[in-house]
Amino acid sequence: MSGHRILSGRVVIATHNAGKLVEMRELLAPFGVDAVSAGELGLAEPDETGTMFAENAAIKALAAATASGLPAFADDSGLCVNALDGAPGLFSARWAGPSKDFSGAMARIASELDKRGATTRRAHFVSALVIAWPDGHTETFEGRVFGELVEPRGASGFGYDPMFLPDGYDRTFGEISSEEKHGVDWQTGDALSHRARAFVLLAQTCLRRP
Ligand code: IMP
Repeated sequence: MSGHRILSGRVVIATHNAGKLVEMRELLAPFGVDAVSAGELGLAEPDETGTMFAENAAIKALAAATASGLPAFADDSGLCVNALDGAPGLFSARWAGPSKDFSGAMARIASELDKRGATTRRAHFVSALVIAWPDGHTETFEGRVFGELVEPRGASGFGYDPMFLPDGYDRTFGEISSEEKHGVDWQTGDALSHRARAFVLLAQTCLRRP
């Protein structure tokens, strides 16, 4: 016995973000998992009081599992910049403000790096995925992608994508297709984005193809 649990049947996606729901439904569908959102069930959003990505994802997943009586799936993610001591990190969404101004947030990163006279532009994205069951059992997975921050380029993707140049690529996340960023080669388990890498680990541990 590995102690891991297999997810099947109905699962709550603990997000009120329509974009994330679509992405998660698509990822889970081939595994026979039927996803309903916390928003559709009218569940409240808990405060994200954790100090790590996995902690915040667990808070959201456990709240949704307890309230719904179903297994629940949550994610938390962000961009960590080495020369800014890991900022914006947990506050990646908040740096864009209520108007979700990511041009402004990217300009703020560039200006903070200049202010500090930073000699490195290394950064990485982190994605933490947590599945929680109503009895409190959790399964946690993390994916990371490392790279350099550059002048923003490209209009695809979202958030900080245009300024992130993944290692081994000459195009930023803003210049590559969603398939190239999030796609998974299920033969090898290879994936590029932090979220796709975390999902591969989750699928290998907790999902089975019907
Ligand atoms: P949350 O996971 O919804 O709390 O938001 C994380 C924030 O991190 C997003 O709003 C983006 O600003 C940033 N972020 C996370 N993943 C990505 C990505 O793949 N590309 C660009 N920005 C990202």
